[in-house]
Amino acid sequence: MTCQMCRERVKPWVGDDPLCYFEDVKENWMCATVNAIRELCYEGQPELPRGVHYDYCNDAKFATFNIEEVKTEEGNYIGRCLYVAWYKTRGYTEALWVLNALETPRPPTEEELLAIIRHFTPRGGRRPSSPTGKSPDPS
Ligand SMILES: [Zn+2]
Repeated sequence: MTCQMCRERVKPWVGDDPLCYFEDVKENWMCATVNAIRELCYEGQPELPRGVHYDYCNDAKFATFNIEEVKTEEGNYIGRCLYVAWYKTRGYTEALWVLNALETPRPPTEEELLAIIRHFTPRGGRRPSSPTGKSPDPS
């Protein structure tokens, strides 16, 4: 089902319509919830949020979020790490995995991603997004 952030978003670019991650994990493109995660680990910002690490291998980019302290609204812990991978700055996100000790990596739920976004967003507002204001690049 299309995520709430995609349903509420007004498309800020001209061109193809987004394809929500929660509609199609394999073909997702410009999902608003996933983009909010990507903005938190966007490599161009002067300082990443505490607990977020970014790296790349050629044009393959990836980030990890330390989510040991993050709980859902119901108070459940999610896991140890959220792993995110994408290519260049394009709108397709190749991988989102919750990593936890002794468990097979699994995709996060929408609720879990929202909890992670809340946890890593500074109080008092959104983090600044990319210089264009529409990270990632819809191309
Ligand atoms: Zn979505």
